[in-house]
This record gives sequence, C-alpha cells and structure tokens, in this order.
Amino acid sequence: MRALMESERWNHRFYPGEWKTAQGDRLAVTEPATGEVLASIGIARSDDVAAAGMRASQAQTAWAATSFEQRAATLREAARLLAQNAGYFIEWNIRECGSVRFKAEWEVNTCVEQLHMAAAMPMQANGELFPSSVPGRTNVWRRVPLGVVGVISPWNFPLLLSLRSIAPALALGNAVLLKPSEFSSFTGGLLLARLFEMAGVPAGVFQVLPGYADTGVALVRDPRVKMIAFTGSTAVGRSIAEECGRMLKKCSLELGGNNALIVCGDADIEAASSSGAWGAFMHQGQICMQTGRHIVHRSVAQAYSRKLKERAERLVCGNPWTDQVSLGPLINAQQRDRVHGLVTAALDQGASVLTGGRYENLFYRPTVLTDVTPDMSVFKDEIFGPVAPVVIFDEIDEAIALVNSSDYGLAVGIHTRDSMAGYEWAGRLHCGMVHINDQTVNNEFQVPFGGMGASGYGGRYGGPANFDEFTERQWVSLSNSPAQHPF
Ligand code: NAD
Repeated sequence: MRALMESERWNHRFYPGEWKTAQGDRLAVTEPATGEVLASIGIARSDDVAAAGMRASQAQTAWAATSFEQRAATLREAARLLAQNAGYFIEWNIRECGSVRFKAEWEVNTCVEQLHMAAAMPMQANGELFPSSVPGRTNVWRRVPLGVVGVISPWNFPLLLSLRSIAPALALGNAVLLKPSEFSSFTGGLLLARLFEMAGVPAGVFQVLPGYADTGVALVRDPRVKMIAFTGSTAVGRSIAEECGRMLKKCSLELGGNNALIVCGDADIEAASSSGAWGAFMHQGQICMQTGRHIVHRSVAQAYSRKLKERAERLVCGNPWTDQVSLGPLINAQQRDRVHGLVTAALDQGASVLTGGRYENLFYRPTVLTDVTPDMSVFKDEIFGPVAPVVIFDEIDEAIALVNSSDYGLAVGIHTRDSMAGYEWAGRLHCGMVHINDQTVNNEFQVPFGGMGASGYGGRYGGPANFDEFTERQWVSLSNSPAQHPF
C-alpha cells in the first residue's frame, strides 16, 4: 500500500470516486507530537458534495443490484488488503492522530474483523413471510438499502468509527459518502478511499470528502443523502439532528459521554484501580467511553485514589512514533487548554491534585483529582483528556443518583464482588452500556453499541443492529390475480 499510496496520488486531492485535485482550499495534515506538517490534501467544497451525491445515487443502483457474493467478496478483499498493509495504517494513525502503538494496532485489527463481519451480512435472511387475510395473497417484508448514506466521523478512532458504518452500509447495498474529521483526514479518509478502490468497490459507490464543518453541513443538507451516520460531539450531533428533522432524514448519532466507574466497598481495589487507570488514561482519555467520573465508596476511597496515583505515575508520555510510551499527545492545543481549564477550575473550587495537572506542549500528564464535588465542571462535563476525578459515596442509591445526574448516558463500570447486585443496579442506570467488574471503555463489534440521552440518538451499531441501521423495511404483497374492489 505504501507504494500504491505515493504522495502524487493524494497531494492536494480528495476522492469523489476518483483522485481529484481540489479547486478550493487545502487541509494541512499535522503531527500533534511535533507540529510537523505531514501532508496537504484537498477540501471538498459544497459543489463537490453536490456532485458526489449525484454520482453516488447513480452508482448505488447498480451496486445494490450486484450479487450478494460480489459484495461479500469485495469486503473480504478490503479486509485482506487492510491486514496486509496494517503497518502503513498504523504508522499514519500514530503520526496524524497521536495514537500510541498498541491502540493503533488494536484499531486496525478490529477493523479487519469489522470488514469480515460486514462481508457475512449480505447472505443473511433478508425478511419474513406473513400470512394474508386476502385469499391467494402472500405478504413479504424485506430489507431494501437506504440509498446514499453520509458518514461523518471524529478523529479519535478515525478508522473504526468510520468503518463501523461504511462496511455494513456497503454490504447492504448502499453507497457511502464519508466526511472524515479535519484532524484525521488522511488516516480516516484518504487511506480508506485507497483501500476500497483497491478492493474493487465501483467508482462512485464510496467517496471521501474531506473538509471542515461546512463540508459536513453540505453533506447533511444534500437531498440525495438519505441517512446521516454521525459520531462526534453532542453539540454538533444536536445541530445535525435539527437539520435532519427538518428534512425528515434518518440520522443516527453516537455522541459524547461522561462515564462513571462505581467502586463499591467490597471491590478488589487492585483490579478496580487498574480499571480506573485504563478507562481514564488510555489514548490520553480521548475516548467517548472514557472513565471520567470515579465514584468510590468512602471505605475504600483513599486506597483507590492512592493506587490510581501510583499507576498514573508509572505511565510514560511522549512521542508515540519515536518512543515507547503509554500516552501520546492530545490532538491539539484547543483540546489541551479545555482539559487544563477543567482541572484548574476544579482546583480553584477546592479539589486537590494527587498527581499530574501539568503539561508540556501537547503532552498532558495523567492526573488524579480528589476532594471533587458533583457540582464541579470536571465531574459534570465530558473531559476527553487524561484526568480522573474521584468522588465519594456512602450508599449505593447515592452512587446511582450521581450517575443518573448526567444528561449523558453512554457507559458505566461497576466494581463489586456481588455481580448479581451489580446486574440489578445496572437496570436502574440511564446508560446504554454497563460493565460489571470492568471499566467503561469496551467495544465488541458483534454487540449492539450505543448511548442514551445526550450520548446517543436514533440507533445502535454492531451485530444485528447494523441491519436496522442501514436498511429500510418494505412490505410487498403478491397476488396471482388482480384484486377486485367495490369501486
Ligand atoms: P466534533 O463533533 O467536533 O466533530 C465530528 C465531525 O463532525 C467532524 O468530522 C467535524 O468536521 C464534523 N462537523 C463539525 N461540525 C459540523 C456540522 N455543523 N455539521 C456537520 N458536520 C460537522 O467531534 P470531535 O471533536 O471530532 O470528536 C470528539 C467527540 O466525539 C467527543 O464528544 C466524543 O465523546 C465523541 N465521540 C463519540 C463516540 C461514540 O461512539 N459515542 C465515539 C468517538 C467520539
């Protein structure tokens, strides 16, 4: 792939079904660890988006009419190419997105599996037969593709969060227009364009339209785009839902989170603190499922915080491309300043810093805060940085109320030796995913994934949910002879 992805192919270009030089502005691909500009790629303007929509809707009809074997074979070929060229995808994910190596490797491996799972979709049962009250008539409901699906993605898991929509959407006969994040347009955009081009997806069926918010707005507003599959912040998701609502367009939103880890008095503190550190600091905390609220029983709060501090202090921060590190840089200065603002505001309001709370360039030290109260922004807001605020509870009802006090409802972890009690408490939590004796960051692509409230709206990804996301149901009745009516 390295040889097949030389800079002449993509320099100043984007991919509306072929490699096209952008007429307008360029987007600089910057390495957050060093500030070095790695590449310059083309931005799709609103007229490019309109042309892409037109081309995609034409190409989709032929794609939907291909045999299920052909669509499956194309997706298997994409999986094979991705596995064969994993090193190249990993390199870009590390350099463009500041991912540490194990995260970048995990992401590619998961995407290979995701493609294999999507390849198996087109050969599944496609509907059901129902009896009819009309003699001689058969009722069928079957799945039909939506048409053109617009995918808008964030930068933190640029491959996975795009592919979890692209792969099933293509498998089920849709065309896809991808608007990657401006902070991961190469890894999560142009590399995928080349992957599907090489795998043999027909021109126009998959297109990549890099750009900023206005490119995303153009995609949402395009009348040929029948669904928006969005992953990103709650604020942007809300504006997309408003646009889609006006157009009566299907939209599926996977949004932000402020996920809690409840550590009960009977918990194994060694295991719980390992969960807390992993959930809070992995990928510098830039994960929608990040453990952003550590709600700990008073009897173990001191022991838990001390262990979390020890784990945080063992973690090495640095350039993940040149050094062996556990944490890389935050994605940009704006994110770093937002994270640091939450920390300093908490300290001003009486919180204490056990470790961290400082940074160098974009490298933010893993931070543990105690004496945190539920009214502090660091507890109420999504952090999206390597910060672990610890809040104390006495009764489990209090912990559940604290979890449910958030508008977000993505993931919760509960550490307790009484897993059946944990199962019962899970039913009282307003959130899409609960992990008993684990932390909040979990993703198994065969299980429906998604949030409630401000964390998710309109759908689920993964396993059986993908069929409902990327098709519509159509009722067809068949009669052998024409129906007779009184009129
Ligand atoms: P973001 O909302 O700023 O941007 C996401 C995408 O939307 C980008 O491609 C951006 O260019 C585009 N965009 C921005 N404004 C738009 C508009 N008005 N119309 C259409 N498109 C627009 O989010 P981000 O900073 O890239 O990602 C971080 C956020 O994503 C966090 O809140 C995180 O929790 C969330 N996230 C959620 C999940 C999930 O599965 N629930 C997964 C990862 C990230």
